[in-house]
Amino acid sequence: MIRVAAERVNELFGLAAVEAARGPDSFADRYVRLARKVGTRYNVRLLPEYRELYCRGCSAYWVDGRTVRTRLRSGHRVQTCLVCGRVRRVPLRSPSMGSSTDLGAPSSVSQDDVVLAEAPSDGDDEPEGAAEEDA
Ligand SMILES: [Zn+2]
Repeated sequence: MIRVAAERVNELFGLAAVEAARGPDSFADRYVRLARKVGTRYNVRLLPEYRELYCRGCSAYWVDGRTVRTRLRSGHRVQTCLVCGRVRRVPLRSPSMGSSTDLGAPSSVSQDDVVLAEAPSDGDDEPEGAAEEDA
């Protein structure tokens, strides 16, 4: 039964992604809510990569620029839910990310966001802790 529940959760998150891609007024949030419900009901832990996809406050499916704002800030990824305003801070892992799974390195973060997060530079110096070299 638990396996089935886990599969169901996967499925729901897949649907949520599809819906979110389709447009703003989608069922994505509803799928997230359902997935969480299934998870709670059957005591299935949501995969870490799933837990980054939605707001824990309001279950909104997070789409960068639409329902969430992502900023990189002093070693943290700060995500602000644009639906309910809840803020989530995730420490960025060390640059030497070895074999760990795709840790959701913010591939969805737009260039602008990254630039904004950096200190304004006066010269041409490369910022020293450039976090993401060849990802
Ligand atoms: Zn929210």
